Amino acid sequence: MPTQDQSIIGQRLQPLGSKKRPVLAWMSIGFAVLCALMILAAAWIVFSSHEVRMREARLTTQNMARMLAAQATMEIKIADVLLENIVERVRHEGSGEAARERLRAHLEQLAKGSDGISGLFVLDQDGAWVASSLGASASGNNGERDYFSFHKEHKQSTVHIGAPLLSKSTGHWVIPVSRRIELADGTFAGVALVALQLDSFERAYDSLNLSEAGTAFFALNDGTLMYRRPFDAGVIGMNVSSGDVLTAYREKGPTGTGFMTAKVDGLERLYSYRHLDQYPLIVAAGLSHEDIFADWDWLAAEILGATFGAVAALAWLFRKLMLQIALREQIEIALRSTGAELEKANAGLQAMAMKDGLTGLANRRAFDEALDHETRRAQRDHKLVSLIMLDVDFFKKFNDNYGHQAGDECLRAIAGAIAANVGRSEDLAARYGGEEFAVLMPGADIEGALHVAEAIRQGVTALNISHAASATGTVTISLGVATIAPGQDHSADQQILIQQADALLYQSKSNGRNRVTGPT
Ligand code: GH3
Ligand code: MG
Ligand code: MG
Repeated sequence: MPTQDQSIIGQRLQPLGSKKRPVLAWMSIGFAVLCALMILAAAWIVFSSHEVRMREARLTTQNMARMLAAQATMEIKIADVLLENIVERVRHEGSGEAARERLRAHLEQLAKGSDGISGLFVLDQDGAWVASSLGASASGNNGERDYFSFHKEHKQSTVHIGAPLLSKSTGHWVIPVSRRIELADGTFAGVALVALQLDSFERAYDSLNLSEAGTAFFALNDGTLMYRRPFDAGVIGMNVSSGDVLTAYREKGPTGTGFMTAKVDGLERLYSYRHLDQYPLIVAAGLSHEDIFADWDWLAAEILGATFGAVAALAWLFRKLMLQIALREQIEIALRSTGAELEKANAGLQAMAMKDGLTGLANRRAFDEALDHETRRAQRDHKLVSLIMLDVDFFKKFNDNYGHQAGDECLRAIAGAIAANVGRSEDLAARYGGEEFAVLMPGADIEGALHVAEAIRQGVTALNISHAASATGTVTISLGVATIAPGQDHSADQQILIQQADALLYQSKSNGRNRVTGPT
């Protein structure tokens, strides 16, 4: 079952898009464009917020890498300065018993004054401890360590940074930072070593507030992983030189940012890396997709959801509006046709109001109006007005003998005979009242009127309606005919005309009925 709305759409909404309704068609197009713009704007907001997140994430990772680079540089620099100091001292003071005692005290003092240092050591050409910051009784041999072999074999005088290792003396993870000690002739005399606590790096990395999925690390140029957050002892010393970050460093230069996959856990992140200016180290920080786009999915869904909701609500309202307009138009059309029908009905009523119900001739009211109108016109145009008045003879008896209904039939037949003999269009035949009739003949002279009157009389006689109580045996009529040339007072003229015709009609009655009497 179609609803009222649907039937209206079916009938009326179709023409809305047609040429007949260009305004409504344009409104629909405008509305569609508005909706499209709203959706485009929402999509643009979502897209640009995505871009903003990406830009912010790039900046964040770049800042983290810069901070980590500064921290690492500072830690190594401190160790380097200490090493330079120690190497100088050993070179000047030698390694005799007294010198060793002073060196030990000096190392202890340096260690005390520096944060993040696990120990300071001077090793002889075999790796045995000459002096350390750990106390007079502490002793050991580091001859098997990689950094010791390195210095023994390389005449490099600058600082060497080794892979993290578990300290023999403290059992903690340390980074060995060392320098070669040599005699004046350049022969290898030992190694000065600063063991940096890995903990101090951990603190810096913790301060980045990375999420579970975020990461940061630093590695030697050769890819040896020094430290990685989150901390996992298993990956310390691992070689990541084939990973994306080290590859990017080798191929694209000392700094860079981009999506890369971690060698350690296989996760893709947005990484920023940075090579230290002074030392062979690379630091990197990476944010995961979740870090970068946390809540963004929800935000995008909310914005798009709200937009589509608003568009749907507007579309609903717009449709309502269109239906209202269509409905109003339909009502207007219905009202217009109702108005036309009313006018027609009114005209019909008016015609009915001027007609006699029984005979179909003009009624008394129409006759009065026509008489008034025609006497005025005759007065203006200086023309004659004639009037025939007629009355059925012995009609009371006819009714008495044949019944009222037969009387009505008889009156209808007489009206037909009158109408048949009134030829001119300007003449008006009317039922004057009861069984009396009148024929108004504007512009007709007495001869013409008498002629019509006689024709009517004969027409009625010719009807041959039986009337036993009449002397002739049939229904007859008596007529009076008068003519006037209207004077100044048309109202008086009307009265005179009627009175004269009436008087002449009664003259016909008194003279034996069934006759026409005109003025003498
Ligand atoms: P006269 O020859 O002198 O005119 O005699 P009459 O009987 O016709 O005289 P009167 O005017 O006294 O009677 C008229 C009668 O016409 C009275 C009335 O019953 C009858 N009549 C008037 N109007 C109608 C009508 O519409 N239908 C019928 N059936 N009779 C009517
Ligand atoms: Mg009468
Ligand atoms: Mg009569």
